[in-house]
This record gives sequence, structure tokens and C-alpha cells, in this order.
Amino acid sequence: MSRFSTLRLERVSRSFGRHAALHALELEIQGGEFIALLGPSGCGKSTALNCLAGLLPLTGGAIHLDAERIDGIAPERRGFGMVFQNYALFPHLTVRGNVAFGLKMAKVPKADIARRADRALEMVHLTAHAHKRPGQLSGGQQQRVAIARAIVLEPRLVLMDEPLSNLDAALRLEMRTEIRRLHQSLGLTTVYVTHDQEEALSLADRLVLLRDGVMQQVGTPEEVYGRPANRYVAGFMGYRNMLDVTVTATHGGHLSLRLADAPLTGLARDSLAPGGHGIAAIRPEDLDVAGENATGRIPAEIEVVEYHGRELAVQARLSDGQRVHFRTADRLAPGARVDLTAAPDRVLVFAAEGTQQLPEPAKNLPRQKAATP
Ligand code: ATP
Repeated sequence: MSRFSTLRLERVSRSFGRHAALHALELEIQGGEFIALLGPSGCGKSTALNCLAGLLPLTGGAIHLDAERIDGIAPERRGFGMVFQNYALFPHLTVRGNVAFGLKMAKVPKADIARRADRALEMVHLTAHAHKRPGQLSGGQQQRVAIARAIVLEPRLVLMDEPLSNLDAALRLEMRTEIRRLHQSLGLTTVYVTHDQEEALSLADRLVLLRDGVMQQVGTPEEVYGRPANRYVAGFMGYRNMLDVTVTATHGGHLSLRLADAPLTGLARDSLAPGGHGIAAIRPEDLDVAGENATGRIPAEIEVVEYHGRELAVQARLSDGQRVHFRTADRLAPGARVDLTAAPDRVLVFAAEGTQQLPEPAKNLPRQKAATP
């Protein structure tokens, strides 16, 4: 199947009755890219993937593969490979039979079928299991068969819908590396749906964050992780502390804040004026127990301590009752009083609910990372 240089989604929309599951998604995917569609349950990820696959007709917009408009084309004629969460293997066929199935359907000559199926099985390290039936394999091995079955057809686009969610944690990590390796070594273009931000960050060249069917941000892992476009993205990307603050002064992009009567400094992510209310987004790992000389101390009382090996995950209460979460190597116990501190460039300040401006329109940035070796 021929490769492409650009897959363009133009205001791709899908409604179910009056409910817009996907609203005017604009995205340009370059050949060779690994794109992750990310967001919580119900945000429209699978809808977007199914629209790409042709399994769901669009209710608005268009999809172009280079110069060709493809949204009216039947799924089997798009030349895309699909890998689902539930493998969907044929139980009565052997592993090799499962992988060869699509080639047979495509009327590939017999000698080529055997060669290509064996090669695909080699790629996913399943040669030794080729004669077994899916029921005799572990979950991870079955997922590999599903991947081999998709890549054997040399698809111009591979679509994956939460392919690792049925696997245990160790296998998920192993298969994650495997998927990225295959993507690179075969020069695939991949669109990967997940609700797991860590999985998306580690796999993708670019992430697309969805909320209620609306794209919130598209960018490289570094951009989305370090510069979330709005509060929602920040929350989803691990900024667990969303604290009510008051702006006391502005200095260019930096803000002086009051958090539970203690001073705090942060980076303005929305336009805020002195006296305005904001939300300070801070990751648990960026909130620390203050050393002796630290300025900007926020008093807190420890409530809950969870043991996480080298570190403790701690929940504490500020003087105004707000709860904070942080990580520390200090052995703290419930009831203890500590002062906390956060580096100013690790505190992102968004406008508070109601005063928040509309998020900047998500920008469709060009790919910044080479996806193929
Ligand atoms: P999950 O991670 O749970 O699979 P998702 O982000 O993939 O979630 P979608 O399956 O795309 O979400 O669903 C988006 C929205 O569209 C949801 O509100 C869902 O209830 C709705 N929806 C999806 N499919 C249908 C359908 N066939 N009929 C009616 N509503 C639907």
C-alpha cells in the first residue's frame, strides 16, 4: 500500500442525535508520525478513530489523504490496519492463520502469504508460537498477534484503540516499547487512542487532547506536559493541585499570589490582574517541604501519608482548608506541621472558573520529532 505524506482532518464532526461526540476536529498528520488521541472516558477518542477508520460516517467535515478525499470510502478500501483492545482474533485459526487471513482475503499469491506472515510473526517475536491457537497464548502474546495481523498488510495508517488496556502493568510497558519499535522500524504512521497520559507521552510524537469532543491542545509531549494550554489539560497531565489563589501583583509573565494567607509566585497562563482570583496548578512532585532558607513558605498539616517506596505521597491541609498533594522522601506522619514551597516556574496560574477566558484555539503545530530512524 502506498505511503502518504499528509492526512488532513478538516472540521471532522460526529454527532449522535443532538450529542456532538466529536466537534470540528482539525488536525494534520504527517506520514511517519505517531499521534496519540488522549482524554478521559467519553471525550470522543474512539469516535475520532472510528471516523478515521470509516467505521463511523461523519456528520460534518472531511478527511483527505494527500489529494484524495477518503471519508466516503468503505473501511476495507482505505488500506488502514486496526488493532483493538480486545484483540478480536479468530479462535479456530492458528496464530499464523490469523496473521495470514487478511493476505488471503486480499488474494496475495500463496508463496508471498507464507513469507509475509512469517516475517510479521518474526517482527513481533512469535515465530515459536506460530502453530498455536490464540487460546493457548497469554494476553500479551495475543495482542502481538493482533499487531502482526495489522502490520502484515503493510497498511498506510495503523489505528490502535487502547490496545494495551487489558494487559498487566509489566506487559503494558513491554508492549509499549514494542509498538514504538515497530512503528519506527517499519516507518508506519500510527494513530493511537489512550486515556493514559504516561502511555501517550512515552509513545507519541504529538498528542491530541480531547474534552467533550472538542480538541483542547495538540503538541509534542514536551509542549503538552510543560505548557498545558488550559486548566483542563493541566489537570489531565498530572497537575493534581488546583489551588484557589488571589493575585497580589503582576510582573510581566510572573504573578505574586496569596495562597491560604501565604505568598506564592507563579507563571501567568491566562491574563490576570491584581485582585483577581486564579487557580494555581502544581504537580505533586513540584511541591516540596521547605528547607531552612526557603522563602515563600506555605504552612500545612499532614493528613494522609502513603508509602511509595523511596518516596511518600502525602495529602496535607492548608490553613484555609484547601488540600494539597506532594511527594517527599522525609518520613512525615499525620498531624505533623510542615512548610511547603514551590519553584515559581513550576506554578501555572489560570483564571478561576467563570473568569476564565476561552482557551486559545488549539494550534496544529508541525511535527518536531523525526518518527522514523
Ligand atoms: P472511552 O475511553 O470510554 O472509550 P472515548 O473517549 O473513546 O471513551 P467515545 O466512545 O468516542 O469516547 O464516545 C464519545 C461520546 O459519544 C460519549 O458521550 C458516548 O456516550 C457517545 N457515543 C459514542 N458512541 C455512541 C453511539 N453509538 N450512540 C450514541 N452515543 C454514542
